[in-house]
Amino acid sequence: MTTLPLDHDTQDMRRGACPALSAPMMTGDGLLARISLTGAITPKELADICRLAKRHGNGMIDISARGNLQIRGLSETSAPRLDADVRALNLPLRDGLAVEVPPLAGQDESEIADPRPLAEAIRDGARTITGLAPKMAVVVDGGGRLRLSHLLADIRLVAISETEWRLTLGGTEQSGRIFNVLRETLVVDTVLALLKRLASLGNKARGRDLARDIPVSETAPHTQPSSSGLSRGSTGVEVFDADRMPGTSPSMTAQNASASPFDLFALSDDLHAVGIGPAFGQAKSESLIALCDEATRLKVKSAKQALDHALLFTGPEIACRKLQAFAGDCGFITSASDPRSHIAACPGRPACNSATIATHEIAAAAAAECGDLIDGSFKLHVTGCAKGCAHPEPAALTLCGTADRVSLIAAAKASGQPFAFAHFADTNATLRRLSDLVRRERRPNENSADCLARIGSARLAAAATGRP
Ligand code: SF4
Repeated sequence: MTTLPLDHDTQDMRRGACPALSAPMMTGDGLLARISLTGAITPKELADICRLAKRHGNGMIDISARGNLQIRGLSETSAPRLDADVRALNLPLRDGLAVEVPPLAGQDESEIADPRPLAEAIRDGARTITGLAPKMAVVVDGGGRLRLSHLLADIRLVAISETEWRLTLGGTEQSGRIFNVLRETLVVDTVLALLKRLASLGNKARGRDLARDIPVSETAPHTQPSSSGLSRGSTGVEVFDADRMPGTSPSMTAQNASASPFDLFALSDDLHAVGIGPAFGQAKSESLIALCDEATRLKVKSAKQALDHALLFTGPEIACRKLQAFAGDCGFITSASDPRSHIAACPGRPACNSATIATHEIAAAAAAECGDLIDGSFKLHVTGCAKGCAHPEPAALTLCGTADRVSLIAAAKASGQPFAFAHFADTNATLRRLSDLVRRERRPNENSADCLARIGSARLAAAATGRP
């Protein structure tokens, strides 16, 4: 029998730990292993993974916000068996640096450029770079309908034309620091040079560290920007000085914000894709197996992990529509109008040792009772602790479990300053009071996010505590 080389560090719920397939991480319900795929698989292969989750784990599967499958409830004995059995399926498992592209890349006629060749070249080139942070991530986003704008990335490339890519460091597309705009022929070498620099800084260095340490001018120390902003540095690298570019700034708003994956998408080659996901990113194996079996019966060609805890099934339009209806009947999220698609909830109790609240129960009640509040203008964040795994970015409203109660936070991360607290048993009643306030106060054409921001913390605190 093979056993995993699990040491205490591996099993520790340390921040930043990445539960890969061969290096699972301890959680409240046992070890958790992550399966990252670089391409589509068949519905039958996805069902095979679910059967392995049932055989080796507790049968619960997470689909993470980045679209990875996470198998829960493994033991030190069963985790290596899962590892071996998954590898025997010959799936396109990610090996090495995470270089992510949008789920419709190459099939979306509205995308500006196909990001896959660049992503593949970066993935290949990075194989010889050692010492990078375990959760280092590169995003290559060619535009189109499903963007990766809200995912955190150490290095992000966004197509701004068929031959030019904007490179940002750290953060989301909106919050990342613009490094420069590169011609396509320079992208791979530049990204690999940045990765080598990060590796030289140690395995804790992240893109945001480079963003602090490398001013845009360093890439072109002796340049004389032309009126168009394009210039040639001493390294021969042609750069775009973003600070000199009219209409751009490091805080520029992400363009072409992503649509929800919970929809039906027309693709090239007469194919369609339908986005389907379990509530709050977690499903029982049996439910996913039933969905995959139906997809196979309908001759749906492939399944792919997507963003926002969704799976994208691709096939003929009629098959996708039938699968969408089947999934809806089985309780999956199939539409952006489903309030559950606008709630980010981590596994919470009892799945995670750090959680003090049952996040999914709270989130389910919120979706049923607070439709006025959850209008799609923001993600309601329900988190078992201040780490905020499900939504690392600021949210308009967060409910966060603490040792003895639930904190309520506005316009900040889960670790932000609370404006009020609720007793555990009063959590959903408190949220209903806030929802009622927004319904009463919302102005014509104002959405919930804007209304919450306008109301402000003092009045939110009064409403949360039931004061008039
Ligand atoms: S945010 Fe949730 S899943 Fe992450 S450590 Fe805290 S309780 Fe656990």
